[in-house]
Amino acid sequence: MLNRRRFLAWLAATSLANPTLSPRARAAGSESPMGVNSDGREAVITLFLCGDVMSGRAIDQILPNHNRPQIHEPYLVDARDYIALAERVNGPIPRPVAFDYVWGDALAELSRMSPDARIVNLETAITTHDVFEPKGINYRMHPANVGLLGVAGIDCCALANNHVLDWGDKGLADTLACLQGAEIRTAGAGRDLARAQAPAVIPIPGKGRVLVFAFGSEYSGIARDWAATQKRPGIDLLPDLSAATLAGIAERVGRTKQTGDIAVASVHWGGNWDYQIPAAQRRFAHGLIDQAGIDLVHGHSSHHVKGVEVYRGRPIIYGCGDFLNDYEGIRGHEEYRADLGLMYFPTLDIESGRLVRFELTATRIKRFRIQRADPAEAAWLAAVLDREGRPLGTGVAAVDGARLRLEWARR
Ligand SMILES: [Zn+2]
Repeated sequence: MLNRRRFLAWLAATSLANPTLSPRARAAGSESPMGVNSDGREAVITLFLCGDVMSGRAIDQILPNHNRPQIHEPYLVDARDYIALAERVNGPIPRPVAFDYVWGDALAELSRMSPDARIVNLETAITTHDVFEPKGINYRMHPANVGLLGVAGIDCCALANNHVLDWGDKGLADTLACLQGAEIRTAGAGRDLARAQAPAVIPIPGKGRVLVFAFGSEYSGIARDWAATQKRPGIDLLPDLSAATLAGIAERVGRTKQTGDIAVASVHWGGNWDYQIPAAQRRFAHGLIDQAGIDLVHGHSSHHVKGVEVYRGRPIIYGCGDFLNDYEGIRGHEEYRADLGLMYFPTLDIESGRLVRFELTATRIKRFRIQRADPAEAAWLAAVLDREGRPLGTGVAAVDGARLRLEWARR
């Protein structure tokens, strides 16, 4: 019998909390973006970004080719229990489902926005390997379900997170091979340190390239021994958020970035159930822009959305919030509305890398399916983004239903 209170306490404990620090003072000097050629033509790149795509565990169980349902958690032993928990709250979940089921309304939004590149944090291993890391939660998706990412046209998966090694080195090797076979680029994990550090390079025909560098921070619960080394597979784990770490990243970005490239830093960091952004994270994000030539910081790990900053014309998403997971039957922290998420569509000027406009679509996970948020939910998300963005110099306007627009001071 499930002891819900102890189960929730355990879940909370597995989500490492950040040290709570005051945000720094408002960033000075946002500059006006461009985005228009001298001939009046737009020369821009639009990205789709979102937070955790957790297609393992119970999501895997409703897909056509699932793994064995046994899981190794202190309170639940069968991944299908998470389906039952969700159904108790929101009603029956069909199964098996086609790959497009879980993306739901997101597919129409992707078609409408037609972004040049689609980048997600993949919060699961893709493997059938059965030997798990003894960490309490282990996510895996069956390799035959990789079409789930293909159906949404995902170009790049950031892998430097606290689940990609849930099934050990073999699970990581399977994940990399599976994504490579599906022609989906990866960043942040690899067979050795050099490969883990290598950026994903996404060519944008007629426009340029998007480079994705992915890093993980111990703040997101990544074990130190998951770090890749010269001889060992693993992830690109940030040793700290120091100036020396920044200098190393700057050197690597400088080696790859060419004129016309848009460089994205995808960082798995930060804890849950707190909107505060630690001063060290903010300093590091600014440093990525100031010193490392990064044009956009794509932060994720928190289950709920956090504030967005535009620093020197470059967007910093501190925490995207989860995009897809199997948590909807889990109670607790309802005030953070972790069932709500966002599709982030920043549009950047190719030449300068600066932000031209930033549209967002509010979403909700229900019956393991991403749906457009209803107007009340979108208004709630807009209010949170607006409140949390204010000290960072941003605001949010509701455009139409679930569609929102980021506003920032352009000088
Ligand atoms: Zn994570």
